[in-house]
Amino acid sequence: MNAENTNGTGQQIKTLMQAVTHFADLNAAHDFFTKMRWPDGVVCPRCGSTDVRYSPTYRRFECSHKHDRRQFTVKTGTIMEDSPMGLDKWAVAFWLEVNAKNSISSYEIHRALGITQKSAWFMLHRIRFAVKSGTFTKMGGNGPIECDETYVGGLSKNMHLSRRRKAITGTGGTIVIAHHPAWLIARTAGPIAQPTGRQHGSCLARN
Ligand SMILES: [Zn+2]
Repeated sequence: MNAENTNGTGQQIKTLMQAVTHFADLNAAHDFFTKMRWPDGVVCPRCGSTDVRYSPTYRRFECSHKHDRRQFTVKTGTIMEDSPMGLDKWAVAFWLEVNAKNSISSYEIHRALGITQKSAWFMLHRIRFAVKSGTFTKMGGNGPIECDETYVGGLSKNMHLSRRRKAITGTGGTIVIAHHPAWLIARTAGPIAQPTGRQHGSCLARN
């Protein structure tokens, strides 16, 4: 995935101010994601055809082949599909994450975009997934999605002994463990495992 600091026309976007200004134009944000998703031309996510028409008024594409759900948007089938957040905000959030030296926190996105920290956290996790996997395709695809709680952000040796005893069983050793629990979401080949708790259930419901 090429989400680097150009705006799709080769022009460099070097500052947050430039990114916000550029992507405030929804057509520019739409172009950015269209080129990033389909660098060789738009492809119908249902049938793979490139025979696709675009309606600028609605920013929607329509496949020329006859099948269900011929209309789609740049968000369809991607990590952004079920988010009410506009492409302008997604674009700036992408720009922030890709250009951050040591990644960015959801609090920074929350402040930069004027959105809730919860929404920022949701976006950031999906952006990281896209950057890491090199694809916009939504996690899970058509298969079941399994969520699990995991721990990130700190070394076990830096934890207070009492927490370490609680969090680590066995030898512990080099396990990278716990400041904040995070959700690990993975596509599973088989049936979804039994939910292990209330949060697990709500995560499945959200996804
Ligand atoms: Zn099609």
